[in-house]
Amino acid sequence: MDSMQLQSKSNTTRIVFEGDGRPTLVVGGHPFGRHYVSSGGRVRWRCRRYNHQCKAVIMTFGQNLITTKLGHNH
Ligand SMILES: [Zn+2]
Repeated sequence: MDSMQLQSKSNTTRIVFEGDGRPTLVVGGHPFGRHYVSSGGRVRWRCRRYNHQCKAVIMTFGQNLITTKLGHNH
């Protein structure tokens, strides 16, 4: 499986590509799906459980985590 390591204090942060090619960012064991890419190139990820009212989101820029808001409700 292809993967990319982000620069992060957490060694549990990584991007993996699932079988269908969708990128998934895994932080602290929780999978995040790519939501959108801003015009500036920042990528917004949201928890795969967002449709269960989970508000956890992450922003990345290049290989850097720039915002983490990990308020999982599960
Ligand atoms: Zn969550």
